[in-house]
Amino acid sequence: MLYRSDFKKYKALITDWISRYYDQIEDFPVRSQVEPGEIYGKIPAALPQKGESLEAVLKDMDEIILPGMTHWQHPNFHAYFAANSSVESLFGEMLTSAMSAQCMIWATSPAAAELEERMMEWMRDAMGIPSEWEGVIQDTASSASLVAIITAREVKTGFRSNFDGVPGNLRVYCSTETHSSVEKAMAISGLGRNNLVKIGVDSAQQMLVSELESSIKADLEGGNVPCAIVVAIGTTGTLAVDPLREIVDVARNYDLWLHIDAAYAGTALFLPEYRWMIEGIELADSFVFNPHKWLFTNFDCSAYFVKDAEILIRTFEILPEYLKTPKRGKVNDYKDWGIALGRRFRALKLWFVLRSFGLEGIQHTLRNQIEWTLDLATILKQDSSFEIVRKPFLNFFCFRLVAEGKTEDELNHLNERYLQAINASGDAYLSHTRIGPTYVIRVVVGQTYVKKHHVNNLYRILQKFKSSLI
Ligand SMILES: *Cc1c(COP(=O)(O)O)cnc(C)c1O
Repeated sequence: MLYRSDFKKYKALITDWISRYYDQIEDFPVRSQVEPGEIYGKIPAALPQKGESLEAVLKDMDEIILPGMTHWQHPNFHAYFAANSSVESLFGEMLTSAMSAQCMIWATSPAAAELEERMMEWMRDAMGIPSEWEGVIQDTASSASLVAIITAREVKTGFRSNFDGVPGNLRVYCSTETHSSVEKAMAISGLGRNNLVKIGVDSAQQMLVSELESSIKADLEGGNVPCAIVVAIGTTGTLAVDPLREIVDVARNYDLWLHIDAAYAGTALFLPEYRWMIEGIELADSFVFNPHKWLFTNFDCSAYFVKDAEILIRTFEILPEYLKTPKRGKVNDYKDWGIALGRRFRALKLWFVLRSFGLEGIQHTLRNQIEWTLDLATILKQDSSFEIVRKPFLNFFCFRLVAEGKTEDELNHLNERYLQAINASGDAYLSHTRIGPTYVIRVVVGQTYVKKHHVNNLYRILQKFKSSLI
């Protein structure tokens, strides 16, 4: 067992480990190559009786844990959405852990509450979110969307559901492409998954506003109570952007809460040329995006903004005697802005990132990634063995391998095998989705330290596995 005074003795062991990891990261297979149960089998079945040395733990870190890691910070990680980090973020996180404060109310660490307030203002103003809105850091977008739906529920039921339970006929609308966390939020909030109405999308995967409006009307006629709409700014499958401008009008006409899920694509709002995505936001009610996805800040850190913080607090406030302080009402007690009581000092790593990058550094990095993504798609487009199925938007596009004389089913199967071969090699990591019946491969160029040559290298990898397959 170590003491605080041992920190000096061991700190180099840990920081050297991290340095080595960063130096070697590009040599590791991107996706872990282990089989199910392999790591579990190497870990003793019982807690050790006697304490072990840190050296012994670190040795197992290298031998047991590392082979079972998928390297999300590898520049050839192009799967899912990026969950990027940065050196600045890591340093901020280390200091947060060093102090390990519980930042539930202002008094339990005033700096945490006030830095969080400022960081949310910095991002709000740099992203074009209305200046009267206020923000709070949540752990994940899933939690933020749950918070939005619970708040909408309370507004619609005159703040009675918190006390009396939830009526069974409150309806929420989102497109068929909306993230599964919204359906989960329906279950957890008591509204019920069957009360989530999934609206169809057009060929660009964007919500059909006419269908939204007719579903709301049908619900009203059938005695249901329309409650909220969730708009996706950047769906998880294909980064589709719902037409917010038109949807806010529907929300206002029918008096519905409008929540915007921009978990991934929200970061693009630091670039003024993408502000069109949130045109109409001043008529919406809440907005979430994840700095822990594309804003160089390690998990977890989700930024949730609301038009009316009073409503949010009224929904979540609960005040046992032991949390009453004389400063209440004059300061932000963020435990009342979400689900958990205990809260990590997440604003600190964000402060490190935002100050060290500066707005220009953020913009430069995002624009580079967007440009290289476009370059890669352009190269693939000139190659007749590839088809761009979803054209580049931000740092994302979808493609598939094509071959003459094959049916659609055969092509789906071919692309599945193609993706599996690439991922199994460890050279790069990509993921897939389906657009209608079509199996497509998604490309995301979002790791913090990805460079042009990595993207060029991805093209070589795609070529290599194509020739080994056909
Ligand atoms: C990633 C993602 C989420 C879920 O984010 P978590 O922070 O992991 O909960 C929700 N919505 C969209 C559009 C996403 O891309």
